[in-house]
Amino acid sequence: MSQILNADLHCHSVVSDGTLTPEELAARAHANGVELWALTDHDEIGGQQRAMAAARAHGMPYLTGTEVSITFAGQTVHIVGLGFDATDERMKQGLRATRGGRSERAQEMSAGLAAVGIHGAYEGALRYVGNPELISRTHFARFLVESGVCQDTGEVFRRFLTEGKPGFVPHRWATLRDAVTWITDAGGVAIIAHPARYNFTPTEEYALFSEFKAHGGRAVEVVTGSHTAAEYVKYADMAHEFELAASRGSDFHSPDESHTDLGALPYLPGKLTPVWELLANRIHR
Ligand code: AMP
Ligand code: MN
Ligand code: MN
Ligand code: MN
Repeated sequence: MSQILNADLHCHSVVSDGTLTPEELAARAHANGVELWALTDHDEIGGQQRAMAAARAHGMPYLTGTEVSITFAGQTVHIVGLGFDATDERMKQGLRATRGGRSERAQEMSAGLAAVGIHGAYEGALRYVGNPELISRTHFARFLVESGVCQDTGEVFRRFLTEGKPGFVPHRWATLRDAVTWITDAGGVAIIAHPARYNFTPTEEYALFSEFKAHGGRAVEVVTGSHTAAEYVKYADMAHEFELAASRGSDFHSPDESHTDLGALPYLPGKLTPVWELLANRIHR
C-alpha cells in the first residue's frame, strides 16, 4: 500500500470523549472515503469489537486502536497503539489501571471549579459521559459550554482546564515504557500522537523520541488534525531522523467541535514509510 491512501487512524467515540457511537463513526468515515480506519479511544478498547464489525459491514479495512495517556517529563503525552490483539490480557489490565484515577481526579477538578464559583461541575460533566470509567476534561468542557460559562470548548481549556487554571489537577498516567510495551507485546505498533501539541523544550522532545524508540516505539503522527502544514514538515523530518514510520489521523471527536472531519486530511508527505506498511498483516477486512 502506498503513501496515497485515505487512512484515518485516530478518532474517538462515546466510549471515551467523542460524541458519536462506533457505528456512527464507521458510517461517517466510509461516507468520507476513508480506506483504512481505526477507532482510538483514550485508555480504552471497549469499542473495538463494535468498530471492527461496523467497518466490516461497510467493506472498510480496519486496524484495532487506542490512545494511551502517559506522563513524560512532567507532561501528559499520548501514545497511539494500532494493530494489537484486542483480547490481550496485559494490555487490558494496563489500560484499566490507567483509567483508574479518573473519577477521583474529576472530583478534585470539580472542587477547584467550585472554588471559583462554578458549582456542580462533576455532576454536570457526568451527564456527557458515555463510559463512567472515562470521565475526561472534554466532558467538563461540554458542561461549561452548555451552562453558558464559555462560548466553546477551546475557551474552557484556556480559562479553566490547563496547567495553573482552577479546574486543572496534575495527574500521573502510565509510563512511556509501559504504554509502548503493552502495545508491542500485544502485536501492535506504538506511535507518538500529535507531537506538536506538547510544550517540550527541544532537549525534552529529543529525549521523548529517543526513549520511545529505545522501548520499541516505531512511528510518529505526522499528518493530524492538530498539526499545521509547517508541523507536517517538521515531524516528517523527525520521522526521518529517528527512522520512524509516519501515521495520519484526524483526531475527530464530534461534528460540532472537531475542525478536521474523518478522512479530510492531506496525504502523508513523500518519502516516509506509512505506518500501515508495518501493519499489513494486522488489517481486518
Ligand atoms: P483528559 O484525558 O481528561 O486529560 O482530557 C484530554 C482531552 O481533552 C484531549 O483528548 C482532547 O480531547 C481534549 N483537549 C485537550 N486540550 C484541548 C483544547 N485546548 N481544546 C479542546 N479540547 C482539548
Ligand atoms: Mn480526547
Ligand atoms: Mn491526544
Ligand atoms: Mn485523540
